Amino acid sequence: MAEYRIAAIPGDGIGAEVVAAGLEVFRALEERQDGLKLNVESFPWGSDYYRQHGRMMAEDGLERLRGFDAIYFGSAGDPGVPDHVTLWGLRLAICQGFDQYANVRPARLLPGIRSPLEGCGPDKLDWVIVRENTEGEYSGAGGRVHRSQPHEVGLDVSVFTRTGVTRILRFAFELARQRPRKKLTLVTKSNAQRHAMVMWDDIHAEVKGDYGDVDSDKELVDAMTTRMVLKPQTIDVVVATNLHADILSDLAAALTGSIGIAPTANLNPEGRFPSMFEPIHGSAFDITGKGIANPIGSFWTGVLMLEHLGEAGAAARLMAAIERVTRVGDVLTPDLGGNATTEEVTDAVCQSLLGAND
Ligand code: ATP
Repeated sequence: MAEYRIAAIPGDGIGAEVVAAGLEVFRALEERQDGLKLNVESFPWGSDYYRQHGRMMAEDGLERLRGFDAIYFGSAGDPGVPDHVTLWGLRLAICQGFDQYANVRPARLLPGIRSPLEGCGPDKLDWVIVRENTEGEYSGAGGRVHRSQPHEVGLDVSVFTRTGVTRILRFAFELARQRPRKKLTLVTKSNAQRHAMVMWDDIHAEVKGDYGDVDSDKELVDAMTTRMVLKPQTIDVVVATNLHADILSDLAAALTGSIGIAPTANLNPEGRFPSMFEPIHGSAFDITGKGIANPIGSFWTGVLMLEHLGEAGAAARLMAAIERVTRVGDVLTPDLGGNATTEEVTDAVCQSLLGAND
């Protein structure tokens, strides 16, 4: 019997709705997969917790999460709480506190889903974006002085370390090596930013020598947006800074049909701390409470979690169940052009799991 302890943090807005849907799918998977047990404990952290306690998570939050095998996260963000408070108080506190330095975002066109790119099929769009997840533009270094004065100054300092850049590049090369096409594109802005970005280029050139079997090229971030739209088939694995990869992966999610589909893994690859899994989307307060949030991003996130736990068979079964539902295409939420509810999509994926012969 393979048993795992999972910490669920539903968080804000539709985060709570899609995590609840994900937990239902996990139950169906346990029913389907002999010997798999996911013992889930939920934590009520997020913006409502902040309104009551003045903080986004419990003071000893990291300590309480430390013993879990994985964290299954929804979203943090609320119109009534400043974004930098919600982001730094929960998601970034966990990513940085647990050194989850590799943020991995697959972007793939699922069967039956249409890309807004004309003529783009699943054979042309199958990427993984690797985002540096602990430093760079999100290092938190900087400050504000002379507040509200005409000469006020605001500084956000991007901090890149040789250790941080080397380990994310090695991670991306290793990932590219395991994929059929074995391609890696390094994205920077090293024409305009001539210090740290050039350091990325230099370290890339050094590390590349150890991965002769991977075909690796470089692209400036602005040119990369064009390449993603015009030549998607030339891309396989992409590695970029915290900010650049964040922006590129939202574009990637839109190109694969909806931001409601895309998953993320925040990995501590060495396993010193638990890793965290979340859909790429935010709290989406415009649709919160309407019961129409697409839960597929949360399900696919579960697939990444199971792969990380070493449950490749269960991960493949869940992914196949999701793909059977998208291929048939009659039970999809409005963001994918359908009129189904979150609950109907969840039921369809559970039925697909339970009814399958795989
Ligand atoms: P945050 O500030 O937390 O990132 P946001 O509302 O600015 O939240 P998203 O939550 O990513 O950003 O939402 C962007 C748009 O995509 C919204 O119109 C939202 O309704 C839509 N969207 C996001 N996730 C989903 C989903 N799972 N299903 C359907 N639509 C979604």
